[in-house]
Amino acid sequence: MHTEQTFAIIKPDAVAAGNSGKIITMIEDSGFTIAALKKVHLTRDQAAGFYAVHSERPFFNDLLNFMTSGPAVLMILEKEGAIRAWRDLMGPTNSNEAPKGTVRGEFGTNIEKNASHGSDAPETAAFETAYFFSCFERV
Ligand code: GDP
Repeated sequence: MHTEQTFAIIKPDAVAAGNSGKIITMIEDSGFTIAALKKVHLTRDQAAGFYAVHSERPFFNDLLNFMTSGPAVLMILEKEGAIRAWRDLMGPTNSNEAPKGTVRGEFGTNIEKNASHGSDAPETAAFETAYFFSCFERV
């Protein structure tokens, strides 16, 4: 295990519900360092570029509507094994299957409105952090 960075989003549903602070507390209580953070209302183009791998999926249009429905909080999280650790703290994609104590279990609603995003591999973490943060915005 080595110190690793991953990309995280508190999605618009959780921000609108006033849960960003609680999620950030869960993140810090789990030993992550927040290396970068900003609140952004994504444009449709930004969301489409970010989720380009899903462009052929039937839910793509709904996903873009959701991700542009209000501001989101974007973060780079750092910890040993951060990519796996943040995915574990979020819980599974479908909030209805996410255990209590996970971000999606506590704050998500369904398979789409699931409160959070996390990179799933080192390559996606590198792409996603660079997609939203310049080198001057990261500590
Ligand atoms: P993740 O890595 O756990 O976020 O899951 P995916 O990469 O498979 O999907 C990306 C995002 O698309 C999810 O976090 C959900 O917000 C949304 N999503 C995934 N599957 C579905 C689906 O079947 N229907 C809808 N409406 N949205 C979905």
